[in-house]
Amino acid sequence: MSKPAPKPWIDAIAPYVPGRSTTDDGRKVSKLSSNENPLGTSDQARAAYAAAATTLDRYPDASAAALREAIAAQHGLDPARIIYGTGSDEILHLATGAFAGLGDEVLFVRYGFSVYPIAARRVGAEPIEADDKDYATDVDALIAKITPKTRVIFVANPNNPTGTFAGKAEIARLHAAIPADCLLVLDQAYAEYLEVGEDDGGLALAMSAPNVLVTRTFSKIYGLAAERIGWGYGSAEVIDALHKIRAPFNVTTGGQSAAIAAVADTAFVDKSRAHNAKWLRWFEDQIAGLGNAGLRAVPSKANFSLVLFDGKLTAEAALKGLMDAGYIVRWLPGQGLPNALRITIGTEDECRGMVAALRKLVDNAG
Ligand SMILES: *Cc1c(COP(=O)(O)O)cnc(C)c1O
Repeated sequence: MSKPAPKPWIDAIAPYVPGRSTTDDGRKVSKLSSNENPLGTSDQARAAYAAAATTLDRYPDASAAALREAIAAQHGLDPARIIYGTGSDEILHLATGAFAGLGDEVLFVRYGFSVYPIAARRVGAEPIEADDKDYATDVDALIAKITPKTRVIFVANPNNPTGTFAGKAEIARLHAAIPADCLLVLDQAYAEYLEVGEDDGGLALAMSAPNVLVTRTFSKIYGLAAERIGWGYGSAEVIDALHKIRAPFNVTTGGQSAAIAAVADTAFVDKSRAHNAKWLRWFEDQIAGLGNAGLRAVPSKANFSLVLFDGKLTAEAALKGLMDAGYIVRWLPGQGLPNALRITIGTEDECRGMVAALRKLVDNAG
């Protein structure tokens, strides 16, 4: 019998796998698998979200005007050139939807964010991977993979799941080598975790170059993952194209209110950044201190660490052992990383407890 057939490029999608929050046997444990903020959410953002409950019967502001103003004021941007999305995830999809299609190529680095191949395939485009350089973005490898069919290039910076960062000179060099008709999307989901003053130059590029789109999210340092709020910055022409295909009313009233308050609460962001910097460094030192057990933490500038397991203790065994000890981390065999775990930096207690559990697993593996 005949039946509706998904388009072949949709059939080819390997679905996104979210971080888990319960163990195999259903216990709720410390979730260090989705790069959420262990300090929670700004109190002001939470209060603004609660206050928005008085207007649940009304559609949100479709133009997200106050949110765009708040973001623009903080970053020195033109509010008219800010796009907003149901998470920055929507904006990544809008970018491929507006600028790539059947027969086109969408390029990104190996061990890049897992949404990029989905976004490419969704519109019938071909996902193309460039080699990494020891898990980091290799600008030359990306440049070498550009063809006349390349329409969109994604670079997450810092990258997820590796945590690696390409500096301003590298990003400028990449941009200089990209054809003018090809869109460079700089996904800065973790930019707020960089040291103050550290910057890949993406927003400055997006201000002047017609083919650069920067994306940001409220899901990570701002602690608003539940509300799904992201934004992007690009030329007026790029932003206009994205608006044409975004869902109307795509950011909720509660989300807009919470995000506006979150932008204003710089103390919470500073505290979150400082906590992460301290415990990320501590965590990397602890992994290095495990000696010749075959573990290595890829140097990270985000709020997680990719740990490679090349000794007696395998990543899969460590995943199970940590789960038994009450910590859920991320194993990524589907992304070509069967020998690695991505571990979110949690609270002090979570960091200490998880490392103690890991140390025990290493010792027991002999
Ligand atoms: C988490 C993440 C995002 C976005 O998440 P949203 O919640 O959809 O805003 C985008 N890019 C990368 C690299 C991420 O890790």
